[in-house]
Amino acid sequence: MVTVSSLTGARAGFDTARIRADFPILAGTSRGVPLVYLDSAASAQKPAVVIDAMSRFYRADYANIHRGVYDLSERSTRAWDEARARVARFIGAPSPEGVVFVRGTTEAINLVASSFVRPRLGDGGTVLVTEMEHHGNIVPWQLAGARTVPVPVTDSGELDLAAAGRLLATRPLLFAVTHVSNVLGTINPIAELCEMAHRHGVPVLVDGAQAVPHQPVTVGELECDFYCFSGHKLFGPTGIGVLWSREDHLAAMPPYQGGGDMIDEVRFDRTTFAPPPRRFEAGTPDIAGAVGLRAAIDWLEAQDRAAIHRHEAELRDHAMAVLAATPGARAIGSAPEKAAVIAFTMERAHPHDIASLLDADGICVRAGHHCAQPLHRRFGVEATARASFAAYNTHAEIDALAAGLAKVRKVFG
Ligand code: PMP
Repeated sequence: MVTVSSLTGARAGFDTARIRADFPILAGTSRGVPLVYLDSAASAQKPAVVIDAMSRFYRADYANIHRGVYDLSERSTRAWDEARARVARFIGAPSPEGVVFVRGTTEAINLVASSFVRPRLGDGGTVLVTEMEHHGNIVPWQLAGARTVPVPVTDSGELDLAAAGRLLATRPLLFAVTHVSNVLGTINPIAELCEMAHRHGVPVLVDGAQAVPHQPVTVGELECDFYCFSGHKLFGPTGIGVLWSREDHLAAMPPYQGGGDMIDEVRFDRTTFAPPPRRFEAGTPDIAGAVGLRAAIDWLEAQDRAAIHRHEAELRDHAMAVLAATPGARAIGSAPEKAAVIAFTMERAHPHDIASLLDADGICVRAGHHCAQPLHRRFGVEATARASFAAYNTHAEIDALAAGLAKVRKVFG
């Protein structure tokens, strides 16, 4: 029987118990046993400081922004503006004006598809993607009217850089690439890819959904054109995310949605628009979400991020060793640069069966195509089970996973 205290155990040098103490949900149970949360790639749990910051904001400082001249609205507006400035500092953006608040990575990419790619399409055009993209970085380009052409992925789960070079030479309208794969865990060489793309005059959008929670990101160093991520994977709330863009692109882009707050002057025969980033933030936004995101960033940056990085790498190695020692198990993706995201299959057991059996022991893993059907097709499988890790996970939890997988083997032979 796994106990809560055994699950909080850490290896020397990293105080997992201290980190776990910040996350109220992790002290809880699932199906009557201690919760083992191995699904942070889908969404990360929230530290109490995030929950408290949002609660405090609603209790003391909440009003709509940009509209009132009264003190409360000014306080709320200040909180919104400060959150934007905090995000800019977090990703090393030259100024807050390049930070557009959106609902998440998906909306950020839809915004770029609508306002950057669609106006450039003419009689057709191509967006270069990769075989490892999330559907959120494939479908919006298709809806905008572009053809999506993928850079192939090698058997170990890396991008084929030679093929990327050849495809970039065809001058697509945009190269849209994930920083870290949500299935393979592969960490792509973004700075190198941006340099290759720019040599051919191709702008680059980076899907940073799986990267920002686990590694420091400086958009200026990557030299990308667009970078996007979701608050909820970054220990923040759902409903808030970020599109960072080079400001010259934003200045030239038409609005994404129309409505309140994004205008300069409205007349029945002609409307003019506010400058970015407000031009892209129509309607009442998720103000409390921004407050929560700011608190999440404050929490993350107060941690020893290098130590977390080492801890996550150890968790990854431990989990990969468990799979290697489990007969019939196969991990998909073994790139040398791999985050703590592990998709796997087991002979004779469907991923949904794996996830259901693990769930009986309180272990949360994801099963399915993880919104990456083309990638699963590339590896000849319909679905995988996926365990993904964050700073708060422990080696004892991986031991619990190992015991759960042994049960799966017993049941499915
Ligand atoms: N891209 C990647 C790599 C992801 O992992 C996800 C979330 N699974 C998304 C995009 C979409 O993020 P969201 O649902 O928060 O918009």
